[in-house]
Amino acid sequence: MTTPIRPSSPRQRQEPVRQESLRIINLELVFRHILAATDPISRTELAAATGLTRPTITRIVEDLRAGQLITETGTAHDGRAGRPRVGLTLSDRGPAGLGLDIRADGLAACAVDLTGNVRHLAFAPSPYAGRTADAVLADLARMAGAAIEAIAAESLTVVTATLAVPGPVDAGVVRSAPALGWRDVDAGALLRDATSHLDLPVRVENEANLAALGELYAGGNALSGFVYVSGGLGIGAGIVLDGQLLRGMRGWSGELGHVTVYPDGKPCPCGARGCLHTYASLEAILGGEPVPPGITPDAAILTRADAGEPATLAALETAGTTLGIALSDVLNILDIDTVLLGGSFALLASWLTANARAEIDQRVLTTDWAPVTVRPAILGPDAAVIGAALTSIDQIRQRPATWLLHKASVR
Ligand SMILES: [Zn+2]
Repeated sequence: MTTPIRPSSPRQRQEPVRQESLRIINLELVFRHILAATDPISRTELAAATGLTRPTITRIVEDLRAGQLITETGTAHDGRAGRPRVGLTLSDRGPAGLGLDIRADGLAACAVDLTGNVRHLAFAPSPYAGRTADAVLADLARMAGAAIEAIAAESLTVVTATLAVPGPVDAGVVRSAPALGWRDVDAGALLRDATSHLDLPVRVENEANLAALGELYAGGNALSGFVYVSGGLGIGAGIVLDGQLLRGMRGWSGELGHVTVYPDGKPCPCGARGCLHTYASLEAILGGEPVPPGITPDAAILTRADAGEPATLAALETAGTTLGIALSDVLNILDIDTVLLGGSFALLASWLTANARAEIDQRVLTTDWAPVTVRPAILGPDAAVIGAALTSIDQIRQRPATWLLHKASVR
């Protein structure tokens, strides 16, 4: 029996496609239509949209249902007379994605299902100053185990873990994360070792990039271009253009903290002078003032600002101004009209926004015709860990057949 596929498939033109490959191509084609549908979609609509025969659709739908990738839900109306048809939608059981995050104030773990809903979110205050990467990742491995156990009770299985780290990552190796005191740390290998009993594929990504993906998802269709600024012990940015994360050649884009604000300014730990980091990182805003035990640096700054402490107010003014100067360069070059303040900057947004905006309004050429919005990020401090979990599940959303093959192999 031959099974039709889209005539435009380049693979069909170039080489004979084996029956098994054809089944996968068709299955993924049908899945993509269910994924893209805003409402439950019927088998008839799927046949019309894909050009596949009704018996083929029926078989594929059964495979997808048996694999817990989709589920039947109520009725779907296909706009024609006759009895309503059963609708198909993504399953909230089956595969799940795990996100892990190392923050300034602790560790976080999150699991999302195929629909993108958060099913588990845990945070453990865990100051990592003075602790080794092995110790930090061992703590995260325990949180990963707890997350996997918690969602197993809801018929969810984690397929991949994505770890968010504050710095550029190169194939699992964290090249530089001054906030953690890490340089050339193979976090991927360490986390794989620490989670070896869980048999979990692990990947490592920059936290600002992952947070931007989290915000992109949370914003629905309303956001297609923005700069997400992650403020903390370091400053990173995730840039989204036309609905896509702009990762750069190696995934190292968005090192906003090392954009030059004053060429002859203060020395930066990176070796240059006058970087944004030296004026707007939490350390710079704290200005050497110690943080009381049990309080996070951003909360300490907020308390001092609310109390009207002059040094803190001046430091926040400088931070907002320099942030606006650095962002203006990005906005002038990329034609983006939205800035989301995330990480600790979400908490401090009311103290930073006015000064940042003043610089942006003055320096970005096109603000007379297209004003720039500067606002706190939606997901707050959870953006990176949720973005990491979404990145993990996205692998199954892109290649659902890998999940079915995995299930078949463990059955
Ligand atoms: Zn620097």
